[in-house]
Amino acid sequence: MMEAHQISDQVTVMVRPDWMRMFVVGNVSIISTSEGLVLFDAGNGPKVANQVIQEIQKKTNLPVKYIIISHGHIDHTGGLETYRNIWPNLEIIGHHTLYPYMKRDVKRVKSFARDRHKRWLKRDSFMNDVRSLYKDSPQIIRYFGQYYIDDVKELAEEYEKTNVILPTITFSDSLDIRLGNRQLRVFKAGNANTPSDILLYLPDEKILFTGDVMTRPVPYGFTSYGKEWLEVLEKLKSLDIEWLVPGHGEPLKGNEYLHKFSDLFSLVIQQMKDGIKDGKSAKEIRSSISLGDIRNFFTQGDAVANFRLDTWFLDPFVSRNYKTLIDE
Ligand SMILES: [Zn+2]
Repeated sequence: MMEAHQISDQVTVMVRPDWMRMFVVGNVSIISTSEGLVLFDAGNGPKVANQVIQEIQKKTNLPVKYIIISHGHIDHTGGLETYRNIWPNLEIIGHHTLYPYMKRDVKRVKSFARDRHKRWLKRDSFMNDVRSLYKDSPQIIRYFGQYYIDDVKELAEEYEKTNVILPTITFSDSLDIRLGNRQLRVFKAGNANTPSDILLYLPDEKILFTGDVMTRPVPYGFTSYGKEWLEVLEKLKSLDIEWLVPGHGEPLKGNEYLHKFSDLFSLVIQQMKDGIKDGKSAKEIRSSISLGDIRNFFTQGDAVANFRLDTWFLDPFVSRNYKTLIDE
């Protein structure tokens, strides 16, 4: 169930509250104007989209005019068809690299659903593996036991029903949208999480929507552009930010999270560079990375959050970006 966070008179952010579910769902932001609504991201499928639509219709009869897609991952795009069925004239806005990416997803999402269904059938052997792999961490075993089984089933069922809908408006660098009383600035700041990453800034309320360039409580490092990502974060520091809306997790006041996020990236990249200078392998670098206090800022000492910082960020980030840093 998505939870509504109203951060200004005209902006509500829909968040899946329990971040540690396997079944991650991107935030969906609802921005009102005098002429209609703009959504930033679409959620992962029909179920979430229907919850967002209910929230919208509680407040207004105005139509959704635009949906801006932060990047091509299915947890941000899967809801599109459900909104379009209700508001057939809405425009879908994305970076020009998003179109070919999503076109490939048209087939991929069904095979993803089948794959998740197979995983669900093998849930008993999966849990046996978890119990032996994490025998010293009861919290991790509990985490998988509590969430994995239901989530994988829900994900398979959801993606069975999901059809991919392609963007209708694309751009390269930036796009200014004027709708009713409101000015919206959509822009690309560089490759961070994916090549299609775009952000939205509302100058009136100083709200920045980052997509998965920033996520809570930890970054997602799976398809990351290491050094470029850090450059993007540095660029964002020049914006005046009252509210920061990450791609996942609750919105935050101010820009402290941006600074910590960028500190984390620069610390990891520096340690990777030092390791490369000493001739270390990616595996050696990964095991020697030490985050000190900043780890606690992100995880608050929680065992599952620490596990996710390792497995959703550090493991994929180091292995993906090792070669690029060597080539420099
Ligand atoms: Zn996401």
